[in-house]
Amino acid sequence: MKLQNKIALITGGARGIGLGFAEAFVKEGAKVVIADIDIQRATVAAAAIGPAAKAVKLDVTDLAAIETVVKAIDEEFGGIDILVNNAAIFDMAPINEITEDSYNRVFAINLKAPLFVMKAVSNVMIARGRGGKIINMASQAGRRGEALVTLYCASKAAIISATQSAALALVKHGINVNAIAPGVVDGEHWDIVDAKFAEWEGLKPGEKKAAVAKSVPIGRFATPDDLKGLAVFLASADSDYILAQTYNVDGGNWMS
Ligand code: NAD
Repeated sequence: MKLQNKIALITGGARGIGLGFAEAFVKEGAKVVIADIDIQRATVAAAAIGPAAKAVKLDVTDLAAIETVVKAIDEEFGGIDILVNNAAIFDMAPINEITEDSYNRVFAINLKAPLFVMKAVSNVMIARGRGGKIINMASQAGRRGEALVTLYCASKAAIISATQSAALALVKHGINVNAIAPGVVDGEHWDIVDAKFAEWEGLKPGEKKAAVAKSVPIGRFATPDDLKGLAVFLASADSDYILAQTYNVDGGNWMS
């Protein structure tokens, strides 16, 4: 029980990696608030986890709503000990085809939102004076560019930088900020990407995913289970001396 009595907020936790983290944190003794724009799905997910999980509706692009939700969680639970900035959207377009609209959407959710969620949550953590743990979800896409994924890659590179700045500012308050950079993680996100490649490149459904899995040195996609050990570690006292880091969990992708 590494997270006994800790209060965790996970944005975009209604499915995928965020949901995997919610389940793992509860198993370690935490209470988890899943804050997602898809409240129906978040509610079903929280109910399946049990009484230690709660769903709240939050569109992370709404800065006023971030403040309201964070304040409400702080009041109801007596603080927030762990934040996972997980909500993000994917976007595919080469540089010569990006649009202002997709730029605004991707950067609103993938960069502006985690910055302002960190602001709101860190102020609550500072006020309570018992430190805290912040985990930002980066990506291998933030380590190196990809021809068809311009905006998403740029937003994930920016969150790696923001993690470092936030970590250096918050260390004096006992708050550790780190990031996780997964490679490819199976789930609905990749089903959508696979379908896009099928449309763009005339591939059969599943063909892109199979090729991507083969290109990973470990030979397969990750699952949220492959990431949860690191998330629990970064959320727990075991990582008290660690800050400003971005950890690859990528099956060796970075080396290939
Ligand atoms: P996902 O697309 O399966 O889930 C994202 C969640 O965010 C959904 O529940 C969605 O409803 C929620 N969301 C979207 N917009 C929102 C908004 N405006 N406000 C609140 N919630 C919103 O994502 P995933 O694949 O589980 O990825 C989780 C994180 O890991 C993301 O930050 C992603 O960039 C990162 N990541 C994923 C992969 C991968 O291969 N899946 C790889 C590297 C990094």
